[in-house]
Amino acid sequence: MTLRVDTPVQFLKGVGPRRAEAFGRLGVRTVEDLLYHVPHRYLDATTVTPIAKAAVGQEVTLVGRVVSKAVMPTRRRLRIFRAVLKDASGVIECAWPGQAFLDRVIRPGQLLLVTGPVKFYHGRQVTPREQIVLEDADEATDQPGAASEGLVLPVYPATEGLSHRQIRRLIAEQLDDMVAAVEDHLPPDVRRAAAVMPLADTLRAVHAPSTPGAWEDGRRRLAFDELFDLQLVVARARHLARQAAKGPRFEHRRELTTALRAALPFELTAGQKQAIREIAADMTGTTRMHRLLMGDVGTGKTVVALFAMLLAVENAYQAVFMAPTELLVEQHGRTLGELLAPHGIMPEVLVGRLAAGEKAAMRERIAAGGARVIVGTHALIQEQTAFHRLGLVVIDEQHRFGVAQRSALIEKGEAPDVLLLSATPIPRTLALTFYGDLDISVLTERPAGRGAVSTGVRSSRDRAKIYAFLQERCAAGRQAYVVYPVIEESERVDLKAATTMAGQLAERLAPLRVGLVHGRMKADERDAVMRAFRDGEVQVLVATTVIEVGIDVPNATVMVIEHPERFGLAQLHQLRGRVGRGAEESHCILLTDERAAVPRLKRFARTQDGFRIAELDLAERGIGELAGTRQSGGFMLRFANLATDEDLVRHARTAALAVLQGDPTLAQRAHAPIRRRIERRYERGIELFQVG
Ligand code: ADP
Ligand code: MG
Repeated sequence: MTLRVDTPVQFLKGVGPRRAEAFGRLGVRTVEDLLYHVPHRYLDATTVTPIAKAAVGQEVTLVGRVVSKAVMPTRRRLRIFRAVLKDASGVIECAWPGQAFLDRVIRPGQLLLVTGPVKFYHGRQVTPREQIVLEDADEATDQPGAASEGLVLPVYPATEGLSHRQIRRLIAEQLDDMVAAVEDHLPPDVRRAAAVMPLADTLRAVHAPSTPGAWEDGRRRLAFDELFDLQLVVARARHLARQAAKGPRFEHRRELTTALRAALPFELTAGQKQAIREIAADMTGTTRMHRLLMGDVGTGKTVVALFAMLLAVENAYQAVFMAPTELLVEQHGRTLGELLAPHGIMPEVLVGRLAAGEKAAMRERIAAGGARVIVGTHALIQEQTAFHRLGLVVIDEQHRFGVAQRSALIEKGEAPDVLLLSATPIPRTLALTFYGDLDISVLTERPAGRGAVSTGVRSSRDRAKIYAFLQERCAAGRQAYVVYPVIEESERVDLKAATTMAGQLAERLAPLRVGLVHGRMKADERDAVMRAFRDGEVQVLVATTVIEVGIDVPNATVMVIEHPERFGLAQLHQLRGRVGRGAEESHCILLTDERAAVPRLKRFARTQDGFRIAELDLAERGIGELAGTRQSGGFMLRFANLATDEDLVRHARTAALAVLQGDPTLAQRAHAPIRRRIERRYERGIELFQVG
């Protein structure tokens, strides 16, 4: 029977209903699924040493039959699993300290491949770093080892009732037939431009690499495919979004905006001016604005957003600004209030804790159109706020809101322009991939006249000195943060530690006043402490990461971070952004006793550039939380690594835009395979490329 990509695996040789069911548990239903069920690792068996030749001091790969095995109790607690391997040339002992469980896995008669160093212990002994069962005793072939020598061995994700050996054998035996069923969906010119392999070669390279590095070329092609699909979908979604809604038509009236510029107590940075130009061009243009303003903490995003809001207001529209905490909203309300007062505009500040009557009155002003600039928390969406003529939505710290919350606010207007603010600078690669449907403005420079932040890594031996420094700074009228990590897994213990620490500090630093804020406090209690800190009534604030977001207390110039090794670099950077907001020099002290973490923390200490740090962070952790809800919201990258595949992302984007330019709905015959692929892989794929 000729195989097709959609042939159920059950019809493959060697697969019956039972194995098909086991494959189902691995997400493999069709021939195509099986081809994309790629090895999760490879063992290098290209150079197998005959057992007799394995010399002490060498790193070797050996293949032999298990002739005996035992678990050795030792006097210490560590139990050692041992097995003796035999090939045509001789025998050798293998020892796995502390891995007695292997006794349940490794059995006499099995053909085993092991890699590791040869040591001397009552004779030659291998301590394997890796091992793999090549054949079970009952699968023994006539020529032991023949099937495995001189190969790179793929190791597949397996499941109960379906071992990686069985999967390897099935795939190896039928790879050619399966590959023959596959059509390459990429047009040759796209493939050549991106310098990736044809799909058939790719699948062979991944399932049957001839050398230990050969599969990497295959992985690149699979990664490219994934990124190409993604860029097509994102670009198409963006195109449709823009086409669908025209957005309000704003004009450059140069009334409020010009007055604001004249009244600003500072000179805008070049980046701010550029961002304002980009935003104004969007808002006065014919298509609706969907823009992300990315800027490191302290780069002055608020004032940029304010220009956008005033442009809306001078065109007789309302502008709304949503921020994630009451404290931030109040902070923004105050800043905006000061800047707008000369122009006779009073921002409405809508937060949950207002009295019901006040809220109702405010809602009425918003609904009737008397309120022109509105600042608020998610109270804006939770309760029945209706707008009169909403023209612009600004969302601060946008990643703190879910997709649903953001669109709930946006949908209160009739296709209002949208400006998202983000203090989480992300590397370009990520931005292109995850925010491909947004235009992006970036602020890179911090305003002039800011004191530098010097960062140091210290150990607890320096604790006394650090506290003395803290006292000295506070005596000079400054304030300090002491940050304590609270992580989900050990939240109770961590909170206790943070609370204890606050108590001890209060004693030790008396008469300085020490406050404590953490995420488990009620919002109003927390805000009360934060306000006391802002107003200078509290000098030292012990805090968990709740202070991470947006708080602006320029008088705070010292930050001590406990257990900095428990934070990601991007998060450390956000925390550090709370100091260095005034003219004076600030200090960030990372206090750790984890020697292993020191080089990484020192790397962090040396750089202030949020984008650079985001890159380091990405390299360290993978996409993880940087990508936030975007990732869980729709797609997963299995093969692409955004930290290292930047070139592929660029190629994929260029290729996708070129294809869509000539064929926006993928209607051409040459593009039919691409279209089918996207329709299968993306839930909304079909809608996106529908004509009309
Ligand atoms: P972020 O980008 O972190 O949200 P903010 O918008 O809160 O930063 O700005 C931080 C502080 O810098 C505010 O007090 C703001 O008034 C001030 N600021 C903004 N732009 C400038 C500038 N060009 N020069 C001097 N200070 C500025
Ligand atoms: Mg901000």
